[in-house]
Amino acid sequence: MSDIVKKEGYPYAFTPSACATCEGRCCTGESGYIYVSKKEIFAIAELLGMDVNEFGVKYLFKKGYKYSIKENKVDESYECVFYDKATNGCKIYQARPSQCRTFPFWEYFKTRVDELKSECPGIVDV
Ligand code: SF4
Ligand code: SF4
Repeated sequence: MSDIVKKEGYPYAFTPSACATCEGRCCTGESGYIYVSKKEIFAIAELLGMDVNEFGVKYLFKKGYKYSIKENKVDESYECVFYDKATNGCKIYQARPSQCRTFPFWEYFKTRVDELKSECPGIVDV
C-alpha cells in the first residue's frame, strides 16, 4: 500500500484513502469538542469572510477557558457544523483547526488504539 502514513512514536499507521468511503466519522458521531485557538478562530473567520465576533457567536461555544466549534444534531448523531455531507468534506478545510489536522495522531490514542480503530477505519497496525 502506497498511501500509509506512519508517525514516530505511534503504535499504528493511517491509510488516508479510507476517508473516501468512511462518511466523515471523525467529524460526526458522538458529541465532542472541536477546540479552536484564538489564531485559528481568526483564520477561519477570515476564510469565511466574516467578522470574528459574528463568527464566534454563530459557530463557537465556550468550554471552560477554551472555544469549541458547534455541532448539529442529525437524527441520533452529531455533526460538526462545518462537515459537508454532500461532498464528505470539511467546509473550512484550508483553515481547519490543529485538532482536525493532526487526527488520528493524537497523544490520547497512543494507549487507546482499539478505541481509535472503532472510530477510524483508516487505522492499521504497524
Ligand atoms: S474517521 Fe478516519 S477514515 Fe474516516 S474520515 Fe476521519 S480520518 Fe478519514
Ligand atoms: S472543522 Fe472540518 S475537519 Fe474539523 S471536525 Fe469540523 S468538519 Fe471535521
